[in-house]
Amino acid sequence: MPKSLVIGSGIGGLATALRLHKKGYEVHVFEKNNYTGGKLHAIVQDDFRFDLGPSLFTMPHFVEELYSLYDLDPVHFFPYSKKSSVCNYFWRDHSRFTVKADRETFISEAADFFNVDERTIRKYLSKNQKKYELTAGLFLEKSLHKLRTFLSLNTLKAIVKLGDLDLFDSLNEVNSTTFKNPKLVQLFNRYATYNGSSPYQTPGIMSLIPHLEMHYGTFIPNGGMHRISQGLYELAKEQGIQFHMEEEVKQITIKEHTATGIITNKDSYQAEIVVSNMDIYPTYKKLLPDAKHPEKTLKQERSSSALIFYWGIRETFPELDLHNIFFSDDYQKEFNTIFKEKQITDDPTIYINITSKDVPSDAPKGNENWFVMINAPGDYGQDWESLKIKARAVILKKLSAILKQPIESLIATEYVLDPVGIETNTSSYRGALYGAASNSRFAAFLRHPNFTRQISNLYFCGGSVHPGGGIPLCLLSARIVADMIPDIKNSKKYDEV
Ligand SMILES: Cc1cc2nc3c(=O)[nH]c(=O)nc-3n(C[C@H](O)[C@H](O)[C@H](O)COP(=O)(O)OP(=O)(O)OC[C@H]3O[C@@H](n4cnc5c(N)ncnc54)[C@H](O)[C@@H]3O)c2cc1C
Repeated sequence: MPKSLVIGSGIGGLATALRLHKKGYEVHVFEKNNYTGGKLHAIVQDDFRFDLGPSLFTMPHFVEELYSLYDLDPVHFFPYSKKSSVCNYFWRDHSRFTVKADRETFISEAADFFNVDERTIRKYLSKNQKKYELTAGLFLEKSLHKLRTFLSLNTLKAIVKLGDLDLFDSLNEVNSTTFKNPKLVQLFNRYATYNGSSPYQTPGIMSLIPHLEMHYGTFIPNGGMHRISQGLYELAKEQGIQFHMEEEVKQITIKEHTATGIITNKDSYQAEIVVSNMDIYPTYKKLLPDAKHPEKTLKQERSSSALIFYWGIRETFPELDLHNIFFSDDYQKEFNTIFKEKQITDDPTIYINITSKDVPSDAPKGNENWFVMINAPGDYGQDWESLKIKARAVILKKLSAILKQPIESLIATEYVLDPVGIETNTSSYRGALYGAASNSRFAAFLRHPNFTRQISNLYFCGGSVHPGGGIPLCLLSARIVADMIPDIKNSKKYDEV
């Protein structure tokens, strides 16, 4: 049986392993940590459970696909529920708006709250949907780096409708020409952060992101986000995929421009296929020191990182739900501070995620588990200890004022993660949450492909390569990689590259 080696057990690595096993390979996953899941990990501290990484779950069908691949009913193996309220938004002036999942309810409530014509919102949402439909099959679900993708009917349609994609305006320009109310503009600008970018730089095509949230909905797995990676790990183990834990890959071995295996801190292994789920930057710099490096791609600006305070809170807040945003007064200044000055603004937008609202066992009765996050620049050697002290004080002051209750005295337990910690845990260069930023018009085209023409039998999956970061796109990267690798069971040939 031909062997394939997967470096890293992030969501992309787990999904690739499952897909390759299904194709008839003996699959070995190498993970430097003593846990699987990468950024999709969780901790329990003083009876509070915290998901450490992703908190927003969209497009669950990409997870379900992996259960269906093994003829397992996802309803039993991966139960989750849809949220009827998507997100609570708060502003300093104590105004507050809740985005409902039902499209028509959202439209009528938003029209009322933001004093805008319902038709304007409806038109905007329809345009976002069109952007998604024109581009998903082309940009997200296929390799962008194969001729065949560009010869498809979808490409032709996208080219004909290029003007509708808003590639030449920023997301903020699109939103602020559509809506007059600055709070509504801010609400729709926030979607740039879903791929770690700035709404003032990322192109207007990114308004397809609210379509995904508002059309398909937002979800929470039973048991919280960690169930996504845990469930896939359990499925992989049951299928016989072998996990080599606390085994760090040090090198990918190459012979005559072909990947032949890996060298780890414990042993060396030969294989027909090698897939790296490690961030693409250290994959080249550490595992492929002698290969020609795609410097232009590796030099791309990285996405934002984050400062996260995980607080066990001795109180319950009925005005909060699973997802809550406390906006900054000056959004543009906030993003300039992050991306240009590589610092943290003194008035950051604060995101609070509380899974105990939906998973009561995540906190003791009468308590809540708060995941309090602000966007942050990547690690460029800033003094994170003093930035954390400053940010913590600013966050507590702002939340106490808006929630009209002193918060600090309610903190029962605390855990903190910064960009350095994110990089240490996952090897993400500079602690970026989503690989490269999409702060330019052509960022989608500049992401590293899922393969390299230089070295055959070597593939890449996960948030730092095509099609991008975030759980759904990482899962798609695994599907794209698997589609390029021959199916041993059904003896299909390699996709031509
Ligand atoms: C705080 C935070 C919040 C986020 N919020 C969201 C969200 O709400 N929704 C969403 O969809 N996405 C979110 N994301 C992004 C999402 O988590 C990532 O895009 C996704 O999980 C990345 O998966 P990946 O497959 O790239 O692997 P990663 O999770 O990056 O894991 C890579 C794995 O490879 C291992 N590894 C690296 N190098 C080696 C080596 N040499 N040898 C062996 N093992 C190695 C690492 O230990 C790690 O386990 C968030 C991320 C963070 C950090």
